[in-house]
Amino acid sequence: MSEQQKLFEMLRAGVTPFMCVEECERRLSENGFESLNYEDAWNLIPGGKYMINHHGTTLFAFSVGEKFQPVDMLRMAAAHTDYPCLRIKPNADFQTNGYAQINVEVYGGAILNTWLDRPLGVAGRVALRSENPFQPEMVLYRSEKPLMTIPNLAIHMNREVNSGVELNKQVDMMPVLDMIPEDMKDTKYFMAFLAKELGVEEKDILDFELSVFLMEEPMFIGVEETLISSPRIDNLSSVSALVSAIIDGQRTDGINLIALFDHEEIGSGSKQGAASILLHDMTRRILKNLGASEEEVERAIYGAMFLSVDVAHALHPNKAGKMDITNKPVLGKGLCIKQACGQSYATDAETTGIFCQICDSKEIPYQRFSNRSDVVGGGTLGNLVAKNFPVKTMDIGVPMLAMHSARELMGTKDIESLKDAVTAYFSL
Ligand SMILES: [Zn+2]
Repeated sequence: MSEQQKLFEMLRAGVTPFMCVEECERRLSENGFESLNYEDAWNLIPGGKYMINHHGTTLFAFSVGEKFQPVDMLRMAAAHTDYPCLRIKPNADFQTNGYAQINVEVYGGAILNTWLDRPLGVAGRVALRSENPFQPEMVLYRSEKPLMTIPNLAIHMNREVNSGVELNKQVDMMPVLDMIPEDMKDTKYFMAFLAKELGVEEKDILDFELSVFLMEEPMFIGVEETLISSPRIDNLSSVSALVSAIIDGQRTDGINLIALFDHEEIGSGSKQGAASILLHDMTRRILKNLGASEEEVERAIYGAMFLSVDVAHALHPNKAGKMDITNKPVLGKGLCIKQACGQSYATDAETTGIFCQICDSKEIPYQRFSNRSDVVGGGTLGNLVAKNFPVKTMDIGVPMLAMHSARELMGTKDIESLKDAVTAYFSL
């Protein structure tokens, strides 16, 4: 299967971080990665391949070289499983003049108007009543059909619409499900539907983490199909490439590790996020379990390298002036090395030097990204991880357009350059 096909599978499957992690686990277990739990005793061995699911939305996978020695270089790469979307609030049901609606909040920095007039589904995790209060039954749910939409206001009722319109997150973004049937007027319409879908009583649904997702397919665009248009390219493109790369990595020494974190779009400061001590604790436990002494653990940690993999901005053809004057990545010409002296990207000259040599040795195309000096760019994982894990770090990712739109755009070939570069990093 081509990298583009694997990416399309990930884009279709990963409608929530739960489903993204599920799809990664499926691909990894098909390739010999064994599941571990934090709570269990581990017995890691050289040549072993493992994965650890953390609260359903964050996943670690690592492989130990056959000839592993404790102080071999630890090579890590991370991406994020979440994306800007709408999340359903508790007590979600309400009715307006015969319409059934649900109450949602905005997760992350979504471009709100791109969510209007689209077919929307619902997916995520639900907590159900169980025998043991400390173990509610947790189930994943994904609707098979579009359940709702958020209609635009007609231009006739807002003549200024093409001059830019402010959308209020509480007023203008409430999805509509149905014209409510007469006999359902006194019910919680969405909750009744959800209970039926799950085959449970409504009173047994204790809580949920449900997202509203865009029910549209990824597709190639262009006469020569050089572009990919899809929901969730930020950051499932990186997730898909990292999973492929750790599966294909050829190292026989040291440890390769990927960390797929939730909550990047809301700042990473959570128990599943990159700003926690999760990676710090995880790597120490792995090394100790493989027999490393305290000193060898510290030596391995401080000799490590970390790649933060997230999308980059490409030059927009209609807004070329928004780009830096000398660093102008475009779609289809290879992955980007992202740099900022303010350390919003953690790349430095040494890590760039390492990475350029890796790419050059395999003839992998790459471009350079830097923000315009008068534009504040976004943040990502690299500098947050580096706070708890001060090792050689850099930021890379595929260039794209329409970042945080409900549908985003990337170059068809760029997924290959990213996957090939990270595979080489995990192989040389
Ligand atoms: Zn991102």
